Amino acid sequence: MRLSAKSKFIIIVGDPVSHSLSPAMHNAAYEKLGIDDQFVYLGANVKVVNLKEVVLAMRVMDNFYGLTCTIPHKVEILKYLDWVDEKAKKIGAVNTVVKKNGLLCGYNTDLLGVVIPLEKITYLKGKKVLVLGAGGAARAIVYGLKNKKALVYILNRTLEKAEKLAKEFDVKVLNYKDQKKISDFDIIINATSVGMEPFSNITPIDPSFLRKNQIVFDIVYTPKETKLLKEAKKKKAKVIYGFEMLLYQGVAQFEIYTGKKAPVEVMRKVLEEKLKI
Ligand code: NAP
Repeated sequence: MRLSAKSKFIIIVGDPVSHSLSPAMHNAAYEKLGIDDQFVYLGANVKVVNLKEVVLAMRVMDNFYGLTCTIPHKVEILKYLDWVDEKAKKIGAVNTVVKKNGLLCGYNTDLLGVVIPLEKITYLKGKKVLVLGAGGAARAIVYGLKNKKALVYILNRTLEKAEKLAKEFDVKVLNYKDQKKISDFDIIINATSVGMEPFSNITPIDPSFLRKNQIVFDIVYTPKETKLLKEAKKKKAKVIYGFEMLLYQGVAQFEIYTGKKAPVEVMRKVLEEKLKI
């Protein structure tokens, strides 16, 4: 144990939070870089009504250095911060809080979790991208892709929610009934919870409209290979697994918290082990 009274701690708060893989991923990265005497990453279950007390604790405890917010705190946290990054402000959600000169600063790294894995295999500028879903994750994804000058469309079970999000970010909507147009898209991203265990035998769209060479990214990561990705593979589309998002939003967070380049492969290995990939 290399921790001391000077070590800084970072806590992921959520409700629930016990399933989170972030502590294992970050602590393994601290160890790899030999900074596990300086940083430790923990988790705590916190109800929304108690979030303000957590923020107060962060203000008064000098070593309480970082906070990661997961469901249901990503929106609520905004009102307690001293400064919020422009991207996080536009998305309307913060997942990363860090203390700088005593001020609580908020960022959103979820968008990088999608943009980085995509940019490893394609340019995004001018690409026609269909985002499935209009919830919290879809907001960050739509913003991230629009920022990269992709041509973004949203398809959602509840049309009004798709229309509202599309209007806010100045992108287009594809009606659920127009699924045959899915084959026109270069990239399809599932940002709904459809396909997640225990309902892993369903797909958010009719997979018969997928085609060869499309990129299909499913942000659901349990199971690793969702039904949508299985079907996409059958059509010889390129697939990106949901744990890539988990990995790269964590990589971006690590770099904000420590100011050091993240050991990506160590973090990937932890996720693969924990998810039994
Ligand atoms: P959310 O805000 O609750 O949004 C859920 C979305 O899924 C909505 O668009 C909803 O449509 C749609 N949906 C739910 N059930 C559906 C069904 N049976 N048929 C069709 N559409 C359905 O959730 P979120 O925070 O955006 O998260 C969405 C998913 O992404 C979750 O599975 C989450 O675990 C995953 N996620 C993964 C990562 C990662 O790092 N890989 C990060 C964030 C989230 P309506 O509007 O019609 O209700």
